[in-house]
Amino acid sequence: MSKSIRWRLVSMYVLLVLIVMIVSGTLIVTLTRQNEYDAIEERIRTAASYVTNQVADETSEEAVFTVLKQTIENTQLQYLNERIFLLDKSSTVVYSITPLEEKEFYTPQVVSAQNKGTLSQMDKVELDGKKYLGYATPVVFEDKVLYVIYVLGDLTSINANIREAIMVMLLAVAVAFIVAIILGILFSDFITRPIALLSRRARDMTRGRLDMKLKVQSDDEIGQLTANFNQMAVSLNDTLNEITSEKNKLEIVFQNMSDGILVFDWKGEMIHNNPASVKLLDLEGLSSYQEIFSGYLDLDYAELRESVQEHPYSHIIIFGEKFYNIYFANFMNQYDEAMGIICVIQDITEHKRLEEMQKEFVANVSHELRTPLTTIKSYAETLLDGAMDDRETAERFLAVINNEGDRMTTLVQDLLELSRLDNKQIRMVMQDMNLELILEECVEKYQIQAARKEQRLIYYPPEKKNCRIIGDPNRVEQVFKNIISNAIKYSGEKTLIEVSLLESDRKYKVVVSDSGMGISREDLPRIFERFYRVDKARSRELGGTGLGLAIAKEIMELHGGRIEAESEMEKGTTFYLSFPRQQAVTGL
Ligand code: ADP
Repeated sequence: MSKSIRWRLVSMYVLLVLIVMIVSGTLIVTLTRQNEYDAIEERIRTAASYVTNQVADETSEEAVFTVLKQTIENTQLQYLNERIFLLDKSSTVVYSITPLEEKEFYTPQVVSAQNKGTLSQMDKVELDGKKYLGYATPVVFEDKVLYVIYVLGDLTSINANIREAIMVMLLAVAVAFIVAIILGILFSDFITRPIALLSRRARDMTRGRLDMKLKVQSDDEIGQLTANFNQMAVSLNDTLNEITSEKNKLEIVFQNMSDGILVFDWKGEMIHNNPASVKLLDLEGLSSYQEIFSGYLDLDYAELRESVQEHPYSHIIIFGEKFYNIYFANFMNQYDEAMGIICVIQDITEHKRLEEMQKEFVANVSHELRTPLTTIKSYAETLLDGAMDDRETAERFLAVINNEGDRMTTLVQDLLELSRLDNKQIRMVMQDMNLELILEECVEKYQIQAARKEQRLIYYPPEKKNCRIIGDPNRVEQVFKNIISNAIKYSGEKTLIEVSLLESDRKYKVVVSDSGMGISREDLPRIFERFYRVDKARSRELGGTGLGLAIAKEIMELHGGRIEAESEMEKGTTFYLSFPRQQAVTGL
């Protein structure tokens, strides 16, 4: 680019100089030639007139001839470049100093002079191989043309001068040409260098180098261009930085989000996916919309494209054991043309499960409340129908109503407790407490109940006393009570219940093991669920709500602990409650 501009500038410059030189040279040469012509004309005119005028006063033809001869002789001495001829009436040369081969002149000037006329146009005569200008004047005697003075002016000198001038001119033109080329190159360099720099800089910019600055060397157009260019580079750099950091941020989000993202081009080929999508959909070997979603969605890609044109399309699919919410939307380029489709995959399995659990829970609560209410209502109706009169029956019925009322109260209390635990509304009064003391007290309290069933409830204290944890003593006691009472409730008479406290580096483990009815393998994982009871009727009979273990589990979790159970049918059940030791729960 710069090269072509440079050569264009140089050639324009040189051409201009040449034109000026040639025009002015031609003018000078023409003018010089004209001047020389004029000077020669003037000289021959003067010479002729002078000679002619010398004979004005002569009285005889002979005298005229003599004077003319004399004058020509004298005059010729002064006019070395001219030749003066004396012609008679028949235009024949009768006198001349310079030797001459030609004897007669019949030129327009001579003819005109013979007739006493004057002709402004000079003759052009060639004589002895030389060029001359010719001028003739008549010598009039007694009103007749006696002689004609014919003067020839030599043109050779003019031509020589002109040639010399032209030579000098040509030399000047040649020198000017070379100088013009050199200066042109220097000047064009001066102009094109900043442009070349800009161009190089622009090339760097296309390669991503936006941090270099050009020096503004002048305040002309090129200087302004450079300044604008720098400005442009700065704002481009800023924009690019912004876009890059935005892109990086998005990339990180894209890589780490839990929702799967797939991007399809206009033909349905997958052009992007994030790790979550690979995990959710098992994309191995799949690369197009058709391959990934056939069997899960009724729409083919063309239909989907049609459908997302107006608003995003979403659908829930069941993938194996999982529920996914799939969401499709168009993505556009900067001209607002649709480029393809983005697909977001949300795993809503947990959500679904919670939804199910919630439904189940509501159904359970209603059921649990309806049973005692039905009992209360039917007993009350029976009483009203007349049973009231029989005091004994009435007392029995009222006792049942009272019992059912108590059951409902317990149930509602348990529910409230759970709900508070869920909403973190229960304020745990965390403190440094002695685990073995609470456990021992608890076992003590249940000795009477165990004795009623003739069960042996034995407590094995830890080897080292003073097992301290950070916890809420009331809540911990609540958990122990629940587990020990369950062991008593779900074990037959004359069985053995053992309670022990073990310690390890990191935790204390309370183990409550009974030799009761046990829990089946299928039921065991579910006993911590709300309202889950292995034998509903029996549990209810024993005053259970099915919420005790759920509450115990929540409380254990709030203490950073765990609750686990092992069981074998008809052999017995063992519950393990592990509490982290003091140092491990510093956060609480
Ligand atoms: P419930 O109020 O019915 O006792 P829990 O939540 O305390 O409710 O216990 C849930 C269920 O787990 C009980 O209904 C019972 O079927 C079973 N279960 C709990 N502890 C024992 C145990 N020690 N032996 C056998 N089954 C038990």
